[in-house]
Amino acid sequence: MKTLWILENQLNKELEGFQKIDPKEDVILLIESEERSQGRKVHKQKLVLIISAMRHFAEELQKSGYTVDYRKAGSYTEGMKEHFKDYDSTTCLVHEPTDYFIHNLFDQKIRFEILSEKPLFIVEKKQWEKYLPKERPWKQEKVYKRLRKEQNILMDEERPIGGKWSYDTENRKPPKEGLGFEEPLKFPPDEITRAVIEKVKQEYPEHFGEVEDFSWPVTRENGLRTLDHFIDQRLKTFGDYQDAMMTEDPWMSHSLLSGVINTGLITPREVIEKAETAYHEGKAPLSSVEGFIRQILGWREYIRGVYLQSMPEYEKQNYFDHQNPLPAYYWTGKTDMHCVSTAVKEVIGHGYNHHIQRLMVLGNWANLLRVKPQEVSSWFLEAYVDAYDWVVLPNVLGMALYADGGLMSTKPYVSSGKYIQRMSNYCEGCSYNINDKTGDQACPFHALYWTFLEDHRNLLKNNPRMRLMYANWDRQKSAQKEAILKKGHKLLE
Ligand code: FAD
Ligand code: SF4
Repeated sequence: MKTLWILENQLNKELEGFQKIDPKEDVILLIESEERSQGRKVHKQKLVLIISAMRHFAEELQKSGYTVDYRKAGSYTEGMKEHFKDYDSTTCLVHEPTDYFIHNLFDQKIRFEILSEKPLFIVEKKQWEKYLPKERPWKQEKVYKRLRKEQNILMDEERPIGGKWSYDTENRKPPKEGLGFEEPLKFPPDEITRAVIEKVKQEYPEHFGEVEDFSWPVTRENGLRTLDHFIDQRLKTFGDYQDAMMTEDPWMSHSLLSGVINTGLITPREVIEKAETAYHEGKAPLSSVEGFIRQILGWREYIRGVYLQSMPEYEKQNYFDHQNPLPAYYWTGKTDMHCVSTAVKEVIGHGYNHHIQRLMVLGNWANLLRVKPQEVSSWFLEAYVDAYDWVVLPNVLGMALYADGGLMSTKPYVSSGKYIQRMSNYCEGCSYNINDKTGDQACPFHALYWTFLEDHRNLLKNNPRMRLMYANWDRQKSAQKEAILKKGHKLLE
């Protein structure tokens, strides 16, 4: 008799293990671990999403004739021990877990057989040695092009369809008055989800965020409905407004698929295939389809590769030696900075922000404030429904904070408030003045941005992509620069 242990983010029947077990003889194990729920005070909606998705998945497996041991245990290790006491199992099959810490749970006394994680990712773990070799820094564009060719996605024989690999420059339209999008699908909680919501409210009241508005898909069926609705109704506007932010719309034209993809309920390949078909059927322009596929084939895969190739040292990175604590308003949204408070309040309500809010508002601001990178990554792990170690660490430490000194991205994504002003309508509702640089009501991003550049000049001055910024700064009058630096250092105090 064999056991197939399915982890919380591997909820997919296409996984290899399902071909290796006999439904009549073998048993599938799922563990709802108290230690995992309690360990970090993750967003309540993330707990509901994972636990409800696991319970639905177990029910579906039982209905299809599998024997399922669904265990509520103190920890994964305890769950394993109890399972092997109750079942006469000789081997435990488990799919390659991406998150590093899970490997430590493989009890030496149990015979584990590690299986391929396909189809949860397009690139298999062992291939990353080839794509991200020892010579560094790594370049996302290079990996993306290579994957487009090898996987034959959006290709016209050897050339990219449309002649360009990336339509990034066409994906940066600012929002305009009256801009609106088709609403995303919402899923009112069913009986299983309602029970989990009650459990989370009772047992984890101290965890981050609110759970009242929970409406994320927790089954493959509803994940596919979200995907189809996005492809039919929202993909066409994804490209143009990919980087735009609006106070009144937390979702914009984004897919809201990260939660269901990261639990394994739907696979990156089926998402990419549907998007590519939509292009061939004329449902969405190439700039939107390429922009969307780049997020999954380009970024999601690359981020995982960086994690696999650089852990465990990666999580300790602190290139700028930032040591400040994260301000309390990252948990409450209580700040006069309208951009930050809007993004945090959306996180509290839904466990979600789209990419630019994470990168250019919350990540950027934490970096300008010189918050210790590990405090920032810890917040990101707690805040979002789609957060897992493998995806948070490179996105936060690498992309948002440049704490890895440029291992995976070419320059820090720091910016003054001008970027937020251009790409959102946040500044219109803010008590700070975006056009004031040094006065009492001046937008604080401004002074902190230039102070960051000046204070880290030695670490950044030779970066070719930073030259223009330093040239702009150096051109300013010394009295103006002095006033900005004085304000910046005062804000840091
Ligand atoms: P869309 O904008 O519709 O994009 C489509 C899909 O592309 C996403 O569902 C996701 O699967 C994938 N994707 C896009 N960008 C990335 C990326 N950089 N890394 C990995 N996948 C990507 N994504 C997470 O899944 N979990 C996280 O915890 C997470 N933390 C982030 C932290 C920071 C600081 C930054 C800058 C980005 C983070 N991302 C994370 C990536 C990205 O912001 C989210 O995947 C995206 O906002 C999810 O919303 P969506 O499904 O509507 O995405
Ligand atoms: Fe944010 Fe500054 Fe704009 Fe206010 S003025 S919303 S703080 S960028």
